[in-house]
Amino acid sequence: MTAPVGFCPGCGTPLGDAGLVQEFWVADDRHFLCWCASCSLLSTVVLPAALISHEPEH
Ligand SMILES: [Zn+2]
Repeated sequence: MTAPVGFCPGCGTPLGDAGLVQEFWVADDRHFLCWCASCSLLSTVVLPAALISHEPEH
């Protein structure tokens, strides 16, 4: 299974060969700790199980 985070959120470099993507979970949310070798950005991408929001007035 491939990680849904394939590219650096900061500079767009593919993370497959020169980077790190580590998945962990918080409740039902999927978190991906990412490190990019090109720009040294350490980031976390979260895929929530559900989004709770409100609809703006229109
Ligand atoms: Zn980067």
